[in-house]
Amino acid sequence: MMELVCPQCRGELKTEPDVYVCEPCGRRYPVLCGIADFRLRRDPYIGIEEDRAKGERLWESAQRMRFEELLRHYYDITAEDPPDLAAHWIPHSLAEPEIAALALRESGLAAGAGELLDIGCSTGGMLVAAAGRHGWRATGVDVAFRWQVVGRARLRDAGVEARLVCANAEWLPFADESFDAVTAQDALEHVNEPLLAAREGRRVSKAGARALWTTNNRYAPLPEPHLHLWGVGYVPRAWQARYVGMWRRDTHPYSIRMRSGREIRRMFREAGYAEARVTPAPLFAPHWPEGAGQKSLALYNRLRLKPGVRQMLAGIGPRYWVEASR
Ligand SMILES: [Zn+2]
Repeated sequence: MMELVCPQCRGELKTEPDVYVCEPCGRRYPVLCGIADFRLRRDPYIGIEEDRAKGERLWESAQRMRFEELLRHYYDITAEDPPDLAAHWIPHSLAEPEIAALALRESGLAAGAGELLDIGCSTGGMLVAAAGRHGWRATGVDVAFRWQVVGRARLRDAGVEARLVCANAEWLPFADESFDAVTAQDALEHVNEPLLAAREGRRVSKAGARALWTTNNRYAPLPEPHLHLWGVGYVPRAWQARYVGMWRRDTHPYSIRMRSGREIRRMFREAGYAEARVTPAPLFAPHWPEGAGQKSLALYNRLRLKPGVRQMLAGIGPRYWVEASR
């Protein structure tokens, strides 16, 4: 049974109408639009109050809009996400349940058994795949309240039940050993303190629970959704955000820090995992048309674990697939 605790002191929570109150430390965590807000730190892109206000406006719109319309509406009202990039992200976002289902299948997590936590769940694509298709009881956490509100509309439209909790990956509001599996797709490179996040993912995992983390650079500036992964990784880490800013002066500064496979392996070991397997990630783009793009993806996916290719990709690191067991 998954139990909520105070992310600050891990104390027991008392439920009051629309708020959780921590008995030991007195902190209060409001529930807005059906989502409890357990954040101790703000989203890097938007303040907590502003994020909540935006989420509440979106939830009003969600009463008359279906998920896809709400997603488009989100970009219409978000000037710092330019239309050409939005046009690029929307099809990806719509394909996320399918992408997540492919990832679950690839990692052997398709046969759901128990509680799954998705860290950095955004608009809930993984939750739809895990709970809607594969029988998990799914919980999603994300620092972006507004995105979870959009995700709530996705779950509603898909008829999928899953729990959404707004929280920092570094301070999860769950008791120790709550989950049978932990996934985190493309979250690691955006988290302020990734080691803490990996540690928290392990802490809330039961003994033997599987972890699947993928990491890549989803905000890279080039138009092609997978080629664009390559550029940023070559740039020294301290310059990566500036590099993106150089290409895109019209966007807000992105917080991106990509890591090498070796660094990731070390980080997961430091987080307490006995062994993390870091391999070049499979790439899924079910939203792409049939053709050369799909053929090259299929070829990449076939070759990525072959000796030689794997080593080469490990050095370049466009996208990693991290598997570990507690
Ligand atoms: Zn507390």
